[in-house]
Amino acid sequence: AKSAGGNRFELADPEADARAITRHGLTTALPTALERGEFFIEYQPLVHLGDGSVRGAEALVRWLHPQHGVLGPDRFIPLAEHTGLIVPLGRWVLEQSVRQAREWRELHGGVEALGPLRINVNLSPCQLTHPGLVQDTVDILERTGVAPDALCLEVTESALIGADDDLLKPLRRLAEMGVDIALDDFGTGYSNLANLRRLPVSILKLDRSFTQSMQQFPADPVDLKIVEGIVSLAHSLDLAVTVEGVETGAQAEQLRILGCDTAQGWYYARPGPPERLHELALVDATG
Ligand code: C2E
Ligand code: CA
Ligand code: CA
Ligand code: CA
Repeated sequence: AKSAGGNRFELADPEADARAITRHGLTTALPTALERGEFFIEYQPLVHLGDGSVRGAEALVRWLHPQHGVLGPDRFIPLAEHTGLIVPLGRWVLEQSVRQAREWRELHGGVEALGPLRINVNLSPCQLTHPGLVQDTVDILERTGVAPDALCLEVTESALIGADDDLLKPLRRLAEMGVDIALDDFGTGYSNLANLRRLPVSILKLDRSFTQSMQQFPADPVDLKIVEGIVSLAHSLDLAVTVEGVETGAQAEQLRILGCDTAQGWYYARPGPPERLHELALVDATG
């Protein structure tokens, strides 16, 4: 924010400077953070809207920074994408999450009412173009002994807009193996709905903005029509619909009536440690 010569911009924006310094500091600290084990994962349950049962969880990464405390992914994922660290970090998140899924399965082995919990993991666009994606995923599943159909990879709609065959090939390969691919933040990009047929996805994750519009009762009739249309199109293409950002029972009820399949949000649980997910699933299955 400073210019050489003259003091006109000297005091320009000290906060912007501080942000830039932090950004720079965080960027340089990222690689060692991975080595030092400063990242951890929280899990947020995915709940079946029909019967309220816990079906799985989404893995959400956090950074316990020695000076700044816990940082959310919005603070460092863009930096990791920029520097390429997202590839090893993403691989770490995938391995941790799949291991966790196996651990839940073992813990729940004796509880008949509990099906195997599924695990959803976010993939950044850089991971999608990285040549090791399919092999890394295969290796992790083999090492942990977790079935591919227990894993769902979430890719944002915007990462797949205009995707050519080269970009889709690894996702197709994973889908053929039985890994579910979810289209994340659906409805925020401008993808051609007809294009959906071309993508190897089996789940649409409806963006939180739709859920927010279900806050008022009665909800905006146009929004209701849009969600209704998306759900019926998705179902006609054999895609399941997950909604995120459900904060109230009224929203959950409205989205259930509209035909959505699975929900996620603070109404059910905030993201938390793996033990919490385990408890929620148990309480849910055993009453
Ligand atoms: P996302 O994939 O859309 O994840 C959902 C975000 O919504 C999470 O934010 C979650 O904590 C938040 N959320 C869940 N329920 C509610 C609710 O009821 N109300 C509101 N207001 N928010 C809710 P979070 O954990 O801060 O993650 C932000 C984004 O960071 C994620 O958005 C995802 O795009 C990215 N991210 C998180 N973990 C990873 C990762 O391991 N790899 C990559 N590439 N991206 C990640
Ligand atoms: Ca996601
Ligand atoms: Ca999302
Ligand atoms: Ca989002």
